[in-house]
Amino acid sequence: MKYGIGIDVGGTRIKYSISNRQGKVAYHQTVDTDFQTKEIFLKKLAGIVEECQQHATGLGHEIAGISVAFPGIVEEGVVTGGAGNLPGLVPLQLTPFLKERFGLPTIAMNDAIGMAMGEHYYGAARGCSDAIFITIGTGIGGGLLIDGTFYNGFHDRGGELGHIIIERDGLPCSCGSHGCLEVYGSTSALVRHYDYLSGQAHPHINGEQLFQKYLAKDAHASQAFDWHFRNVAIGLGSLVNIFAPERIVLGGGIVNGGPQYLEGIAKYINKYCMSHLHDTFQIAPAELGDAAASVGGVGHLFAEYIQ
Ligand SMILES: [Zn+2]
Repeated sequence: MKYGIGIDVGGTRIKYSISNRQGKVAYHQTVDTDFQTKEIFLKKLAGIVEECQQHATGLGHEIAGISVAFPGIVEEGVVTGGAGNLPGLVPLQLTPFLKERFGLPTIAMNDAIGMAMGEHYYGAARGCSDAIFITIGTGIGGGLLIDGTFYNGFHDRGGELGHIIIERDGLPCSCGSHGCLEVYGSTSALVRHYDYLSGQAHPHINGEQLFQKYLAKDAHASQAFDWHFRNVAIGLGSLVNIFAPERIVLGGGIVNGGPQYLEGIAKYINKYCMSHLHDTFQIAPAELGDAAASVGGVGHLFAEYIQ
């Protein structure tokens, strides 16, 4: 049976697996990311592919292609920017290198798009033709499914849903602009606002832990989350007006803290989108967790490139 190799590169770890068209995972593994130089990084990727090929052969499976999800801007298989956690790797000839080395169909995409692909083919947006995917973490990533096709604009340069501007003259963003959704709706922004409201720094608290304080009705956490929910709803409201999705899939550790998280956003979103769109979409939590980008990329490989 045909399987694909799905590799999900993170700032500290690389997750990889082999999975088939139905999303069934036959092997998965995690290793540390080595990114001292491009050569070391690409050698590690090649080693991962060889390891997966050996496992597939042992199981009697055929490897039909490779997918790589990468935390940066990936233009037609080449990383051209945005990889803030992986300095020194940009520009990176990702798919050209793997295609030449292994001679297999190979695709690469931004990791948030990989997550969106996983949720579309196997998770919370199965069967949807129009969906918006947002991952809420220390940054905000996004993916767009329009009429059954993933859309990233000319040369795959767009789809940066975390960088729509929700505050004129707002705080500076890592992208070089000001007032982006990411600076107001990420978990880093949430913790920053909680520090501000409580008048002291909490360097060791993360979004998930803060959500537990919200559930316990801590006063400052309640105020911080109310601010956070509104900010995320403002960003999503604009996206709803433009794309009229049937589903919005939200991912990231904080989303899994309890249904109260999505309820908090749902409470505000109709306030920030046009009335004919009120309640025309569902907000759903991502279902695949950590596996979404590796398995999702392979799903896309099978859907688009392999008979
Ligand atoms: Zn930005």
